Amino acid sequence: MASIAIIGAGQAGLHLGIGLLMGGHDVTLVSNRTGAEIGAGFVTSSQSMYGMALGFERELGIDYWQDTAPQYCAAQMRLADSDGNVGLFWQGDMDEPGQSVDQRIKMPRWMDRFEELGGTLLIEDAGIETLERLAAAHDLLVVASGKGEIGRLFERNPARSPFSQPQRMLALTYAHRFSPRPGNPAICININPGIGEFVSFPGLTLDGPCEIFTIEAVPGGPMDVWGDVTTPAEHLKLSEELLRAYFPIEAERIEGHLELTDEKAVLRGRITPTVRHPIAALPSGKLAFGIADTVCVNDPITGQGSNNAAKCAKVYLDAILAHDGPFDAAWMNATFETYWDYARYVVDYTNMTLTPPPPHMLRILKAAEGNREIAQLMANSFNDPKAISPWYYDPAEAEAFLLTHAAAA
Ligand SMILES: Cc1cc2nc3c(=O)[nH]c(=O)nc-3n(C[C@H](O)[C@H](O)[C@H](O)COP(=O)(O)OP(=O)(O)OC[C@H]3O[C@@H](n4cnc5c(N)ncnc54)[C@H](O)[C@@H]3O)c2cc1C
Repeated sequence: MASIAIIGAGQAGLHLGIGLLMGGHDVTLVSNRTGAEIGAGFVTSSQSMYGMALGFERELGIDYWQDTAPQYCAAQMRLADSDGNVGLFWQGDMDEPGQSVDQRIKMPRWMDRFEELGGTLLIEDAGIETLERLAAAHDLLVVASGKGEIGRLFERNPARSPFSQPQRMLALTYAHRFSPRPGNPAICININPGIGEFVSFPGLTLDGPCEIFTIEAVPGGPMDVWGDVTTPAEHLKLSEELLRAYFPIEAERIEGHLELTDEKAVLRGRITPTVRHPIAALPSGKLAFGIADTVCVNDPITGQGSNNAAKCAKVYLDAILAHDGPFDAAWMNATFETYWDYARYVVDYTNMTLTPPPPHMLRILKAAEGNREIAQLMANSFNDPKAISPWYYDPAEAEAFLLTHAAAA
């Protein structure tokens, strides 16, 4: 049995901690907020998750909301201008449903489960002293602090981080009076080229089912106008104005006026997509091992972060359970590289959506418009961006893929 300390009670930290306890290890987890504080706080994410990641939660028996959270089995993408002229539209079915459970519901419940299984939960905002204390007393220290400041201990890896600035201004809203899109429930991606995106899907929040949407504004563009917004009411008002101005087709779903699900159902921010080195040396020389967003954070445009956190937790969990020996730098590097071998597709998938699309990507998306099989492959790519390699990521492979599928159509 190993003793493991984890900083951060989020998607990755709790998933890993619960899995380790179930595997017979001794786990201490540090959270800077109690479950009650998380539950009473502002929303933290839109957290749409798909089959593979939800399956990893199911393996641990912590998918408590499978029957209560709305499910969506389709994805759609629309490129349209501010007048609603559509340049591209595809929709496809997903093999397994996606779900979004408000992290204000999920994390407190998982914290309870962690303690039920015998884990030690400490409430403190961990700084270097805490890390030193925990590293000295445990066999392994994992930092799962997400976008928290302490993650800066891990050095940015410039070879894996093409951006040094945020690529979007993000405005997240949980809303009522926004009717589900016509047809099957779906994740809906709307792109207004050069201006930004509007992404929506159904979710489960504190008062039940709702619609969750994120406005992604291109920096300096006409939707990057959030500087004066301070209150949730102002956030909601501006969201509705931008939706009506730049996504008129989606705005048809507004029933009179949008309503917030609660007074803390909004979030704004900017994320610089960054991959970091997975190991940080503390002043004492002891090592900390980073997981999920701490070492690989993406813009939420493709809804991958929580999925990645679950997938990273699964890789680390399996590696720890299979390991017999010290958790040294060689083990940490090898474990992270196993994860990176997957996550690099997610990073490319997301970054390709943030920049003007390369011609081969546009051709694939255009082909999805008239080809049900390609649309289905693209819909399932939200679950598994690696599944559309190599053809989605490589112009020559895309050419060969399109030739085969055009011939088959
Ligand atoms: C607007 C927006 C929309 C998103 N939409 C999606 C989506 O649709 N699908 C998707 O998959 N992902 C989405 N994401 C991303 C997703 O929420 C994150 O990638 C995911 O939660 C990361 O998990 P994590 O465990 O690494 O970090 P987190 O879940 O952020 O958990 C980190 C935890 O550590 C705590 N912490 C931080 N510092 C300390 C410290 N010093 N001491 C103790 N505790 C600390 C934090 O309070 C937090 O509880 C979205 C993100 C944003 C911002």
